Amino acid sequence: MDLQFKRHRRLRTSANMRALVRENHLSADDFIYPLFIYEGENIRKEVSSMPGVFQVSLDNLQAEMEDIVAHDIKSVLLFGIPKTKDECGTGAYHDHGIVQEATRFIKERFPDILIVADTCLCEYTSHGHCGMVKGDKILNDESLDLLVQTAVSQAKAGADIIAPSNMMDGFVAAIRKGLDEAGFQDTPIMSYAVKYASAFYGPFREAAEGAPQFGDRKTYQMDPANRIEAFREAESDVAEGADFLIVKPGMPYLDIVRDMKNTFNLPIVIYNVSGEYSMIKAAAQNGWIDEKATVLEMLVGMKRAGADLIVTYHAKDAVRWLRENQ
Ligand SMILES: [Zn+2]
Repeated sequence: MDLQFKRHRRLRTSANMRALVRENHLSADDFIYPLFIYEGENIRKEVSSMPGVFQVSLDNLQAEMEDIVAHDIKSVLLFGIPKTKDECGTGAYHDHGIVQEATRFIKERFPDILIVADTCLCEYTSHGHCGMVKGDKILNDESLDLLVQTAVSQAKAGADIIAPSNMMDGFVAAIRKGLDEAGFQDTPIMSYAVKYASAFYGPFREAAEGAPQFGDRKTYQMDPANRIEAFREAESDVAEGADFLIVKPGMPYLDIVRDMKNTFNLPIVIYNVSGEYSMIKAAAQNGWIDEKATVLEMLVGMKRAGADLIVTYHAKDAVRWLRENQ
């Protein structure tokens, strides 16, 4: 044989050889675990479209947090489900709102856990939109004031990172100014800079009980067909003072994650959303895929695409499986 070719298989000959040349790795430090805190008592309710994900009330939060700590997970992302909703989403920025109370609860008992507070209005507004509404319009600048109040009240309660998700223009600038004026210069902003109007959010709306009651979110979230627009959105947020950039959802937008990683010198966060989780869970429950192998492949694929951090409902399982693999 007089063929000239390269022998790539030399570096795949054994498990140890493959480990030696592996380029990307997952660890518990990569994960941010979302939590749904329900206002009320004695609640630990599984989200039917998200098996393994629970809405919990404060009295069940101790056990949930102990479980998270046992899995070596160091950061949680808090969403609140208030008892009552109103036009202006008062529960989002009330000093005793459910996320503020949960933040205090966790900070008192688990001071080392990093709390990322989702800063939005949709779980708290009667209309389910992420901003103030007039007629069928979602108002931009009027919504900013409420977002700032929400962020400051979350920081006061002890949140370590503010994560604004409502896609109003100028939200990072407004929140940065508000936090600074309130004395929270050291509190970083993890901006949902690139958030698409995605069908993959379906199960989340059951989990957070925040589906819009009219219309959709396409006037503020991005068109899934667009890539260049993601640069515009992220550029603005970087200029306004964002400390992290989130791309949401994950799997269908890995090209955007790579774009952001190559362009901006900030930690890139991917949000592996509810629909992505539910698809894998459903397929696994049917015996159609190997859940462990699929989840770990997906998560390492996100890191390979350029994500530094991954918000994922799979976090606990992933940590357990990574331990098994060691
Ligand atoms: Zn929202």
